[in-house]
Amino acid sequence: MSRREQSRIDPRGRKVKILATIGPASRSRDMLEKLVRAGADAFRLNMSHGAQADHAEAIQAIRALEKQFAKPIAILADLQGPKLRVGTFKEGQAVIRHSGHFVLDRDETPGDETRVCLPHPELFGILERGQRLLINDGKIRLKVLEADDSRILCSAEVGGVISDRKGVNVPDAEVPIPALTEKDRRDLAFAAEHGVDWIGLSFVQRPEDIAEARKLTGPHGPAICAKIEKPKAIARLGAIIELADAIMVARGDLGVELEPYEVPPLQKKIVSMARRAGKPVIVATQMLESMIENPTPTRAEVSDVANAVYDGADAVMLSAESAAGAWPEESVAMMDRIAVQVERDEGYKARVRFLDTPPDATTSDALAHASMTIADTLPISAITVFTSSGATARRVARERPATPVLVLTPSIRTARRVALLWGAHAVATKDIGSFEEMIGKGKRMALRHGFAEAGAKLIVLAGVPFGTPGATNLLHVVTVSGDELARHGG
Ligand code: PGA
Ligand code: MN
Repeated sequence: MSRREQSRIDPRGRKVKILATIGPASRSRDMLEKLVRAGADAFRLNMSHGAQADHAEAIQAIRALEKQFAKPIAILADLQGPKLRVGTFKEGQAVIRHSGHFVLDRDETPGDETRVCLPHPELFGILERGQRLLINDGKIRLKVLEADDSRILCSAEVGGVISDRKGVNVPDAEVPIPALTEKDRRDLAFAAEHGVDWIGLSFVQRPEDIAEARKLTGPHGPAICAKIEKPKAIARLGAIIELADAIMVARGDLGVELEPYEVPPLQKKIVSMARRAGKPVIVATQMLESMIENPTPTRAEVSDVANAVYDGADAVMLSAESAAGAWPEESVAMMDRIAVQVERDEGYKARVRFLDTPPDATTSDALAHASMTIADTLPISAITVFTSSGATARRVARERPATPVLVLTPSIRTARRVALLWGAHAVATKDIGSFEEMIGKGKRMALRHGFAEAGAKLIVLAGVPFGTPGATNLLHVVTVSGDELARHGG
């Protein structure tokens, strides 16, 4: 491995994480390896595309890379969700005239320039005059004139070419469709069976949607990332963040359901609220969009990624750039370089901490907060956290400390989930039995994984008695000695 490659997978190199979507452009073992070397920390399988067999192969390849790089990698299976689509057309497509009329009905005969089937019975009877229907990412805009149980008559505010199975957004109505379709349930079962770490829950509208998914995942299944892409979810953000394990600012659909210029303030609000709650937050969609075709991004795209990093998002995401574009490796490498550059900026620490995140009145939060201030006061090389559920790691990362957070956990599931957490790097280790063992192991792991050198100081954070969840009550500052590795036999 060249020096440059080594430095790129240096665990101390970057705080913000990179989540890369896998698709035809990146499914091969070879390309996945290139993406990990370029800086991908986690991968997203888009269940809207590709067969389960393709996803299974990708999962297997990622697990092999995890071993090769000794780096836990998170896999997020993004469920399609209740994405609404029109039916088909006689000619495969039709032109809706500007300010003309257009009808959506329940008749399955292929459509034409006057009508098409809307194969979602739930929508009939709930839409009201004046509400909008947006087709094909909002390119066509219809307004409801009349709606009953079988027919929705619209006027076309903006017409255009409509073709088979184009997506439909209904931003003004709360769609009485469960957050999980039959396909989602199958994909969720697949994800759980294949040990996927996270599921992405699309088009979340209500906190109950997360509760429903939680019933299916169970206590040992994948963690739930709620995708915020509906105006209805914005109205219930607090309750949704509380129930979810992570949050995605899904700017693609959000910018269709709302106006694109409404997205930036919402992005800041969602990132802030998720950060205060200590839940990982991912900024997604069109981050380096032009890199689908070009080897370099626009300056505006670079600024967009940089600003998400300055805002303290836990992760930034690539969609088609890494899944279907011509430059998947370059896209990941570019994201990595942008992030590293921002994090080296002397103004970065103050900007990221501009958000006030007062600790809760718990022992665990008091110690997490103390770790951050100690690391600002002393030359600490890492905050080492012993955790089984990962909760303590989240509370420490929430403080956005200046030093890396080394997460030691007996749970491989926790280790992998941490791959989406700001500034945190996990190592799965055997359970520890005593205080001395814990200190020894903390030093050894920090040395072995490149978080500390001989003579360096570490913070060790843990709960005694060991293995009691939520009982973090111990903070120790230790100095690593050079013979640590030799003394404990590696
Ligand atoms: P999608 O979600 O790529 O699954 O649509 C992300 C978004 O809408 O931004
Ligand atoms: Mn979406």
